[in-house]
Amino acid sequence: MLIGLCGGICAGKSSIASYLVEQHQFTRIALARSTSTPEVEKSASHTPVPSVATSSVSPEHTFNNVDALLDFVTLRWRERWVTTDIWDEQVVDALLRRPFFLLVSVDAPVSIRWQRFKDQCAVNKLTPPALEEFVLRNDEHLYAPKTGLGALFQRAQLKLLNSTTSKDTLHAALKSLNLTNEARLRPSWDQYFMQLADLAAHRCNCMKRRVGCVIVREKRVISTGYNGTPRGMTNCNEGGCPRCNNASKGGADLATCLCLHAEENALLEAGRDRIGETAILYCNTCPCLTCSVKITQVGISEVVYNQGYLVDTQTAAIFKESGVRLRQFSPPREGIVDLSTFQADSTKMEGTTEQSDIRDILDDANFVRPVN
Ligand SMILES: [Zn+2]
Ligand SMILES: [Zn+2]
Ligand SMILES: [Zn+2]
Repeated sequence: MLIGLCGGICAGKSSIASYLVEQHQFTRIALARSTSTPEVEKSASHTPVPSVATSSVSPEHTFNNVDALLDFVTLRWRERWVTTDIWDEQVVDALLRRPFFLLVSVDAPVSIRWQRFKDQCAVNKLTPPALEEFVLRNDEHLYAPKTGLGALFQRAQLKLLNSTTSKDTLHAALKSLNLTNEARLRPSWDQYFMQLADLAAHRCNCMKRRVGCVIVREKRVISTGYNGTPRGMTNCNEGGCPRCNNASKGGADLATCLCLHAEENALLEAGRDRIGETAILYCNTCPCLTCSVKITQVGISEVVYNQGYLVDTQTAAIFKESGVRLRQFSPPREGIVDLSTFQADSTKMEGTTEQSDIRDILDDANFVRPVN
């Protein structure tokens, strides 16, 4: 895989690259700057601040253009490569086309980045800039017409907020984020179907909650469903279901609700014959009780859900009794991630498939069986 790190001055690109090199056998790879991409980072003090990063890239891993870099990595994509040389739109376009590339942006509060810059100047016995000068340079780096890099960072699949203040806390956070998880490049089957369920959820018209569902047999989608009023009726979000449109609490007055649940729609669409013995139902939310009994009746063999719902333990009890496997799967995190929130629990690895069967919790002494 190839990880590209982009971000503001002293946001932590090189620190993250070093982590990947030290802990995960990555090799640094570099792209020479063109005349249209001035070295703004180094000129923030009007004095070059030698970066550990660039000096540690060997000449045979430095390329004049992105095509040459890609030719090199394409032959070696199963090895691990990292670059911090994300200069412009054209470079990002070329890299993002390839299935082995992950773009990660790094950002940090300007006060923290300024402190890091001053520390770097001190190490190199240079006079640091005033904060105002640093801020102006930073604005140029991110927002200058044509050469500003701010817009590129928005294209990153993973956006890290790095206000960590020590190498150890940064490393602990990165470890628990599981940055090298290749599922971010190409989703696992669980992740693929869960993302399809999330996409289905976007079609929901029910005012209460976005729910999406996908039924799969032998890794093929049989049907999809989302929640809302039945065909031919006014959509829930246009006033079709009076119960959903008043402010009653989730789970209340369900008997008067006109909306079909995502699971019900997917089950009706598939039909019992096509579901067969080995079908798996993916749902972004743990099924409710009435869906659980229908899922059981049509012969679904396994239910995989992402987020919990009000009645998880009761649902688990139904599936336990009827022999339907129930499992939670949470995809690896994408989008904005605050690394400071990852420091508390570095033992948990993001995006690892939770293989344990939820039915096992029913055998746990702490589990309270729902009252019928
Ligand atoms: Zn509704
Ligand atoms: Zn309703
Ligand atoms: Zn339901």
